[in-house]
Order: sequence, then structure tokens, then C-alpha cells
Amino acid sequence: MNLVFLGPPGSGKGTQALRVAKELNLIHISTGDLLREAVKNQTELGQQAEEFMKSGNLVPDELIVKLIEEKISNGDKGNGIILDGFPRTIPQAESLKKMFEQNQEHLDSAVLLEVSDDEVVKRLLGRWYCPKCNAGYNYPSNRPQQEGLCDNDGQELLRRPDDEEAVVKNRLDVYKKQTQPIEEFYRQESILREIKGEQQPDTVFQDILAAVKD
Ligand code: ADP
Repeated sequence: MNLVFLGPPGSGKGTQALRVAKELNLIHISTGDLLREAVKNQTELGQQAEEFMKSGNLVPDELIVKLIEEKISNGDKGNGIILDGFPRTIPQAESLKKMFEQNQEHLDSAVLLEVSDDEVVKRLLGRWYCPKCNAGYNYPSNRPQQEGLCDNDGQELLRRPDDEEAVVKNRLDVYKKQTQPIEEFYRQESILREIKGEQQPDTVFQDILAAVKD
């Protein structure tokens, strides 16, 4: 089974994609995580991507498509893959379709997590993470036990630089202009599965499982 997860920043894509990948034994591929790792290690890709990410803009299609091609052709595929954060433009969606066709595979579902703009802004401005174990927290809904420290390892929690208010607004605009048209692309292929993203995380998870097993 091959899945794509779509939705605005802060819609819970990453969290849900990880859970679904575990449950269905799929390989989770997050372009955001791969890019953040590349920036941290200052690889050539990281250096090219850093400025785009800081300002909340998209990294150029050719860089991302190359990254995904490498991942898909070299990596272990398990029972299939979940792409989280890719595709994010129509040209990326078209490249992905070609990649699958070349491997005699196809995409089964595009899962769209729907969350309102107000909720997105609230979630991203309240988001903190642990730089050591990557655990995520959110104020006020999911606070750590001790203010500012990770429950797992006591590390001081950080915020993503692109979660600052001005950048969040730009990421939402970029989503609407460049990524939202993909919803129609997959609707026309009859594989778009729309999920209400503002329910309890467990309910969202169950709804996704039901939708992709249909
Ligand atoms: P978000 O919370 O905005 O969904 P991600 O962690 O998926 O964040 O991505 C963070 C940043 O990485 C994006 O704002 C963008 O700059 C870059 N990025 C990730 N995936 C892609 C992609 N498929 N195409 C272009 N840029 C991407």
C-alpha cells in the first residue's frame, strides 16, 4: 500500500503518518524531516534548502524530486510507503506518478487532514519539541510535566524556527497557492480521502485507517 499525506502545516500529518506507518508496516518518508537533517549536517542539499525553509517557502521542485527518487529507488519498501510532505506542488505530483509507473506501482490513497486556519495558527504557535528524542508538545493541550523540559529525557524544549508567527502565515499562504491544487489532482483520480483533522488524535487515526482500507 502506498499513501500520500496532505494537509496544511500543523494539521497533524507527521504525527498521524508515523502512527499509520507503524500500524500497517509502511515506510514513513518525511521530506521535512529529511531536509531538517540535511540542514543540521550542512550537506549540499541542506545548504541549498536552508533559506527557503527559514522563510516558509518551498524548496525548488528539482531538489525535492531528486531526494525522493533516491529514497524510493534505494530504500527498503516494506509493505509500501507513506509520503509525508511530498508532493507539495502539481509538478511534484506529476513526477511522483511517473516514478510509480516506472516501478510498476501506484498510489492507493491521498489522505487529506482538514484543519481550519485559526486552528493551524494556534497549534503552530504553541508547538515545542525535544531536540534529543523528537517528542512533540503543544501548549496548552499537551504540556510537558515540567515547564520547558522533555518528559522522556529532561532536555530543554525548542521551537522550530519556521513556527514564528510571520513565517507561519507565509507557510499557510504557500500551502493555499501551491499545494492545495493537488487536492483536486487526486480527487480526479478518485483516491482523495478527506479526514476531519480537528477531532481527538485517536479518532483521526481510526478514521484514516478506515479510509485507506476501503
Ligand atoms: P509543515 O509543518 O509546514 O508541513 P514540513 O516539516 O513538512 O512542514 O516542511 C518544512 C519545510 O520544508 C517546508 O516549509 C518547505 O520549506 C520544506 N519542504 C518540505 N517538503 C517539501 C516539498 N515536498 N517541496 C518543497 N519544499 C518542501
